Amino acid sequence: MDSTSKVILFFILCIACGLGIGALVSKTNLVQIPIAHTSSQPVVSDDQSSSTPVVTQTQDETQTPVVTPITTTTPDATQPSVVVPPKPKPPACPVAPENEVDQWLAPVGPDYSVGDDYIPTHLVRVSNYVQAATSTMCLNASAAFRLQTMETAMKTQGLHIVVSSAYRPASYQETLRDNSEAKRNLVTNPYPLVALPGHSEHQLGMAVDIVAGPKYSLDDFINTPEYAWLQLHSWEYGFIQSYPIGSETITGYSTESWHYRYVGIDNATAIHNQGITMYQYLKNLAAQIKNPA
Ligand SMILES: [Zn+2]
Repeated sequence: MDSTSKVILFFILCIACGLGIGALVSKTNLVQIPIAHTSSQPVVSDDQSSSTPVVTQTQDETQTPVVTPITTTTPDATQPSVVVPPKPKPPACPVAPENEVDQWLAPVGPDYSVGDDYIPTHLVRVSNYVQAATSTMCLNASAAFRLQTMETAMKTQGLHIVVSSAYRPASYQETLRDNSEAKRNLVTNPYPLVALPGHSEHQLGMAVDIVAGPKYSLDDFINTPEYAWLQLHSWEYGFIQSYPIGSETITGYSTESWHYRYVGIDNATAIHNQGITMYQYLKNLAAQIKNPA
């Protein structure tokens, strides 16, 4: 090989070496350039810590991460997903102890008590019979049935009554009595409006307080056509106004236009025909039973 050929061979080898080294260097300094995806669909990544795929975010960083909402609605979109809990049932009416002697005709008043522990028999829910202010009120079953008959008769005349109070246990009566007495003006109201526990007709399960429109107020009841109708007809259904106007010195309580007690149709008819207060009638009846002629 002459000298010229050696020089050419040397240059060829140098070029070959240079290309080889360049290729090696460019491979080691390779930069990873991220590639933007144009899809906005969420990417489900397989979280290694969980076997459940987790929705993370899109690979398109220009897009807001998409989160798929959890469907809580029913298949019918017109139906709300809110579950309405059932209405709690009102507590059952008290049940009288076994062998309790019902005192439904007792002349309860300031000087006669049925006792704080007395619970009448056959109490039923008032609202099952007539319109009542609350669904928790209870009344003797016979009284409730007659009240329903009377209410139906009143409706045919365009009159509507609502029961605002019925059976009261002695404990509740005591609370009412304390509140009422704290407010009572002894000069203008010398007779109490609320009886002592044990001395209330409400504890017998036979008495109701009645209100009517438009104000549904006890004090306004005397001015309603419903009151006027009851004055004429309540006895026909076994109900008597316990504390009529002018009876305070006999009954010991203030006049109450709204308070009616069920005594049965026969007794109510007798009271109506004799023209006396129910209190007088029941005291006479109790005396006859105690001392029969
Ligand atoms: Zn009353």
